[in-house]
Amino acid sequence: MRKYIVGNWKMNGTSGDLTELSSIASVAAKYSAVDSAICLPATLVDRASGQLPGFQIGGQDCHMDASGAHTGCVSAAMLVDAGAMVTIIGHSERRAAQHEQDADIRLKAEAAISVGLNVILCVGETLEERDGGQALTVVLGQIEGSLPDSASGDWLSVAYEPVWAIGTGRIPDAQDVAEMHNSIRKQLVSRFGEAGRSIRILYGGSMNGENAAMLLAIPDVDGGLIGGASLNSAKFEPILVAAANSGE
Ligand code: PEP
Repeated sequence: MRKYIVGNWKMNGTSGDLTELSSIASVAAKYSAVDSAICLPATLVDRASGQLPGFQIGGQDCHMDASGAHTGCVSAAMLVDAGAMVTIIGHSERRAAQHEQDADIRLKAEAAISVGLNVILCVGETLEERDGGQALTVVLGQIEGSLPDSASGDWLSVAYEPVWAIGTGRIPDAQDVAEMHNSIRKQLVSRFGEAGRSIRILYGGSMNGENAAMLLAIPDVDGGLIGGASLNSAKFEPILVAAANSGE
């Protein structure tokens, strides 16, 4: 399976940062065996997709409704109109700060699919849940609760992101990542049949140039969702190199 390396700029970036984005897109073009994308603040999606037509631009969220009285929100159709091809949904920062529940995330996924937008569905346990032996139950439950009754999974990537690994510099043991990704794979196959084998399962949480090769070599780690190390090409390129060399 081709690796998928996705950057998440979170609430970072104004028009002055489009030069850096352009440099990331140029670097990404060197690694043609790797699929890559950057998920931008909604304010930059239109300009970025216009300036970089060959590079995959994504959003970081979408509303579940197509339109209406939702001040400050962005619909899936608006993202598509601005040039996005994919959007993150269910990021743990939104689950925590905006109190998003699995049921909300499921509706957002349905909204995205309805306009042809691909989805990166984020799931992950807190440290308390991991320490309490609940990691698998929590993550598989989040996926079960968030997946729409769509006939196929061709719109979907799943990002396993332990909450305690995001932005902390800590990463799980390789065997914990392997166990989680294997369990997610089984769940996707049970849900989508054989098509579940080709849904990419990304790892996210402090992935960087030093640890990417190790993480991307773990079975069923089909790519990465990267926050801090996606903000500039110097930090992003080593992850693309690791993906290109992962040889899967
Ligand atoms: C993220 O927020 O999705 C993420 C993985 O962040 P970081 O790489 O900075 O841990």
